[in-house]
Amino acid sequence: MNAEIIAVGSEMLTPFRQDTNSLYLTEKLNALGVAVVFKTIVGDKRTHLVNSVRQALGRVDIVVISGGLGPTEDDLTREAVAEALGRKLVRDADLIANMYARAAARRITITRNNEKQADTVEGAVILENTRGTAPGQWLDIVHGKYRKLLAMLPGPPPELKAMFEDQCLPLLKDALPERAIATRVLKAAMIGESQCDARIAPIYTQYPDVETTILAHLGDIQVNLSCRKPLLAQAKLRVDELTGRIEEELDDILYSSQGETLEQIVLYYLGMHGATLAVAESCTGGLIAERLTDIPGSSRSFLGGAVVYSNELKTKFAGVNPELIARHGAVSGEVAAAMAEGIRRQCDADYGLAVTGIAGPGGGSEEKPVGLVYFAVSGDDSTETLEKRFTGDRSRVRSLAAQQALDMVRRRLM
Ligand code: ATP
Ligand code: MG
Repeated sequence: MNAEIIAVGSEMLTPFRQDTNSLYLTEKLNALGVAVVFKTIVGDKRTHLVNSVRQALGRVDIVVISGGLGPTEDDLTREAVAEALGRKLVRDADLIANMYARAAARRITITRNNEKQADTVEGAVILENTRGTAPGQWLDIVHGKYRKLLAMLPGPPPELKAMFEDQCLPLLKDALPERAIATRVLKAAMIGESQCDARIAPIYTQYPDVETTILAHLGDIQVNLSCRKPLLAQAKLRVDELTGRIEEELDDILYSSQGETLEQIVLYYLGMHGATLAVAESCTGGLIAERLTDIPGSSRSFLGGAVVYSNELKTKFAGVNPELIARHGAVSGEVAAAMAEGIRRQCDADYGLAVTGIAGPGGGSEEKPVGLVYFAVSGDDSTETLEKRFTGDRSRVRSLAAQQALDMVRRRLM
């Protein structure tokens, strides 16, 4: 089954408000194995709303609508759904009584326009709003020849979440065919999305029952596998089999088959070896340390380090010989190596990691262009260096450099 989410509200068609409810709903629906195939944002205009609902009913199995259930003139979701379905709106006497009782209990008076919140589409199940006044509605109907599920949920995120979690989820689970879902997240570093896909597409296309999606972000590739079968063991078997074949193909480019982040993996390896790490960062300005220290417990393996932009600090904190900088320039493999060795020594760490490069937009030259970055990892027996040329703006170069640096340590530790 697939779904469409309709976010109702003119404010989300301005530059000032974003529809975040659909992100939450998508996550929840995906977890049930329901793919969200369309999202619509529609303003508080009745004809537009009716059209959106009709269109959604014509193209998906499950329609989830958020917003427009309040008491004001521009809250039109109920009317629009009734019109789109050709059903009557019925004012629910119990709901009205309830509303007044709740208001009285809280010693507030409510105005007549609140009564419209008790209008229910014929055949709808009422969803109680434990966090606010506007009730939601649930319809499980035959529309045309097809079964359709439609939920109307309030716009305020806390109300929507509570209602979805407590009331929609059980109804949805009931309505969906009983199937188990197995998922797996594989992650690879420093490989292009198309390059990665070119290598694994011949494999995953042999598993049409496993849904495979690839997401790429700044040197990080995420391959999501998901499979639904009547039994969990069957679904797992397929996902694990495909995982094994992708692992074989991507080999050491793949750093995780369980969805961990690159920094988690680096810390995991350090922990496994009982080793410590220190960093000297130019160009990345602390991004590497930031990523590592974001992980709880990182201080067991990550000692710290220094952000060293000036030549003086490269010498003072990372022990780089000034002559080396004079001879090769601060952005060079030699200086990267000296920084890694120096910070390792200064911090008394098992491994030293260093980055030096030109993030841009200024500071580049013909010989040393923007995007040129040197990396070094120093350990007990040796120091390795790496040269890379990244493209893109300053923030992209910095992020890619941090990613590359972490991946270099990972490879060293593997
Ligand atoms: P109310 O009873 O508050 O009027 P409602 O169901 O009519 O509830 P809306 O009026 O559409 O909901 O929205 C109320 C508030 O909820 C909005 O001001 C907005 O801040 C928030 N909201 C609505 N829709 C979304 C959305 N899709 N994502 C995030 N926030 C939303
Ligand atoms: Mg409203």
